[in-house]
Amino acid sequence: MTKPVIGVLALQGDVREHVAALTECGAQAIGVRRVAELDSVDGLVIPGGESTTISRLLEVFELLEPVRRRLRDGMPAFGSCAGMILLASKVLDTRPDAQHLSGIDMTVRRNAFGRQVDSFETDLKFAGLDDGPVRAVFIRAPWVEEVGPEVEVLASVPEGPAAGRIVAVRQGAVLATSFHPEVSGDLRVHRMFVDTVRERLA
Ligand code: GLN
Repeated sequence: MTKPVIGVLALQGDVREHVAALTECGAQAIGVRRVAELDSVDGLVIPGGESTTISRLLEVFELLEPVRRRLRDGMPAFGSCAGMILLASKVLDTRPDAQHLSGIDMTVRRNAFGRQVDSFETDLKFAGLDDGPVRAVFIRAPWVEEVGPEVEVLASVPEGPAAGRIVAVRQGAVLATSFHPEVSGDLRVHRMFVDTVRERLA
């Protein structure tokens, strides 16, 4: 089986957790901090962290346009939490100077769950993963407020005050989750992404 090379954008955030999860799924995972590294990967993960900080560092490291270009050219990508925010085409409740990558036609609200439910865990039914619910860890998470016609909704919050809010989506080879599969020990979302990268390579 081919071993895809998957980059983890390594400017800020929980890079190590994604590298570990991808490695366990059979990918060769590398940190991406420069264009030459970006050029060498078959897919890119944008980790959880602080979206406005990652946005600023994308500009400082002159990676913003190169990442946008690769996404336009069809590079598979997966963003968790801050990574989801960065993959959006429109972001609510962020800094006016924050950049985004428009990898998925969606409007995302940053820190959407509010102060009182800053962090929580729940079980989600996740489209395409039929062997039981996904344990989802949310940490100052965004949700998806609106999706374009080409976006597939993979998971929504099942109950409580945020019931029905969209927390996982896919458009083509680009995947995003509000939560952090990289910290739960459940590798199925990463495996789904690695499979997508493999399919693209085949
Ligand atoms: N609240 C963070 C942001 O705005 C995201 C939190 C996370 O990635 N855990 O980027």
